Amino acid sequence: KAKEAGRARMTLYDPAMDADRGERNALELDLRMAIEGGDLQIAYQPLIDAPTHQMTGVEALVRWNRPGHGPVSPETFIPIAETSGLIEALGLFVLRKACETAKQWPELRISVNVSPGQFRNPAFADYVRYVLKQTEIEAKRVTLEVTEGYMIQNPQRTRQAIERLKALGVKVALDDFGSGFSSIGYLRQFGFDRIKIDRSLVMDILESDSQREMLQATVALARSLDIPVTAEGIETEEQAIAVRLFGCDTLQGYFFGRPMPADQITERLMQARAAKVTTRRPNAA
Ligand code: C2E
Ligand code: MG
Ligand code: MG
Ligand code: MG
Repeated sequence: KAKEAGRARMTLYDPAMDADRGERNALELDLRMAIEGGDLQIAYQPLIDAPTHQMTGVEALVRWNRPGHGPVSPETFIPIAETSGLIEALGLFVLRKACETAKQWPELRISVNVSPGQFRNPAFADYVRYVLKQTEIEAKRVTLEVTEGYMIQNPQRTRQAIERLKALGVKVALDDFGSGFSSIGYLRQFGFDRIKIDRSLVMDILESDSQREMLQATVALARSLDIPVTAEGIETEEQAIAVRLFGCDTLQGYFFGRPMPADQITERLMQARAAKVTTRRPNAA
């Protein structure tokens, strides 16, 4: 079927295709300039410790405001960066910037997304080591989030890559778990430090029995392997209560905070510190 489609594409002239290609090239060019000019931003989304409801980490999420067009979703431009050889530079920029920024938040962990295109590079662990050294951040505060796509095809190389990263002292998390064909069975062999349950699995847990059971079973299985679990996409208090009950130890989602500029994270931290001081005061007196 794919072959048929390919042939049809070659023989039929479709002006819309040319327009698409032109737009894609323009997008790629603009992205290249943004990376080279350092014009990408990073938003930070709080990661919440379920038992205490304290912010204990942040996830770095890249943002691009395309000149003349406005914000472009990473779901759009990351795949383009992947296929046009820009992902290494983009990834390096995000990692370095996120680690640098996180240095001002000593009480927080920092999570950074890693694309298959970065992960596949045998030199990836070397440049992670380089960034750690350059930014002087403690390795154990850094978590790299990887998705499963590439792993199924290359289990051997995946295992090696994860081992190298863990040898540096960074943590490796499996992102978007439950969104694809993942089986928790092979989680153990890769040695992930954490799994993040995809938003699509969390979304309907209150409305759908089967969704809820699926989430529960997944969390239970991960916990039986001693792998801690983060729930993504928490939008309501009810969802927060439920996933916490099921055993997720870290919560993330709009309910706790949208991705935000670094300044706002700093502000939150200052508020949290102030609250701690006030609650401690009666005891101290
Ligand atoms: P992800 O790593 O799974 O990140 C979580 C995504 O879910 C983010 O979308 C975040 O804004 C969104 N989100 C968080 N909480 C909620 C919620 O309660 N409700 C809803 N509806 N959405 C929520 P974002 O920032 O658009 O990023 C999308 C994806 O793009 C990320 O998914 C990640 O796979 C990729 N990405 C983002 N930044 C980077 C980066 O620096 N490098 C790489 N390689 N990929 C990145
Ligand atoms: Mg992520
Ligand atoms: Mg995710
Ligand atoms: Mg995702």
